[in-house]
Amino acid sequence: MKITIIYDNEVWKEGLRADWGFSCLIEAYGKKILFDTGSNGFILLDNMRKLDIDPLEIDAVFISHFHWDHIGGLADFLSINPAKVYIPLSSDEPQGAGKTIKVKEYVKIFENIFSTGELDDIEQSLVIKTVVGLVVIAGCSHPGVKNILKAASKLGKVYALIGGLHGFRDFHLLEDLELVCPTHCTQFIPEIKLRYPDKYVKGGAGKVIEI
Ligand SMILES: [Zn+2]
Ligand SMILES: [Zn+2]
Repeated sequence: MKITIIYDNEVWKEGLRADWGFSCLIEAYGKKILFDTGSNGFILLDNMRKLDIDPLEIDAVFISHFHWDHIGGLADFLSINPAKVYIPLSSDEPQGAGKTIKVKEYVKIFENIFSTGELDDIEQSLVIKTVVGLVVIAGCSHPGVKNILKAASKLGKVYALIGGLHGFRDFHLLEDLELVCPTHCTQFIPEIKLRYPDKYVKGGAGKVIEI
């Protein structure tokens, strides 16, 4: 499987734009899922174009939570591709979606691809089963990394955690993971890097992680 960070507070690949927010493309098991949409539709679509990602090839959109820096580009994306959108139950229905699926409990999205379900009445994370273990993608981790990892662990052993880890400082929780890409709103990236130099992967718009 392949994860491409499209939208992030920092840039990985020259030519892309950094902006506060998060979005990534997940390509796994023949499906393409757009995870979150950043703050701004223009930057989202421009970065997608520069990464050779065709919006029309996206099979579904997965929205982690309804904060502006994750849904800001949703309307512009849906005006091009009115795709199926998975949102947490507590969210408002987005305009222009082909179909909206409100998620409360853990649910299968595609074969081997799941939502943790809405945690703490705010946010869901995406979980992809791979041969090496589970890959967990988080938006801001408002329910807490501990809760997210616990929810994901019902499906197996977590191999990787990628995304925004807002307020996270229980660094020992990452002990059993093999790969951590803390990005977007993570405050303690230097601490995570220092403690886990072999697991740490730097994020940024344009970063590609293949697992
Ligand atoms: Zn947030
Ligand atoms: Zn955020």
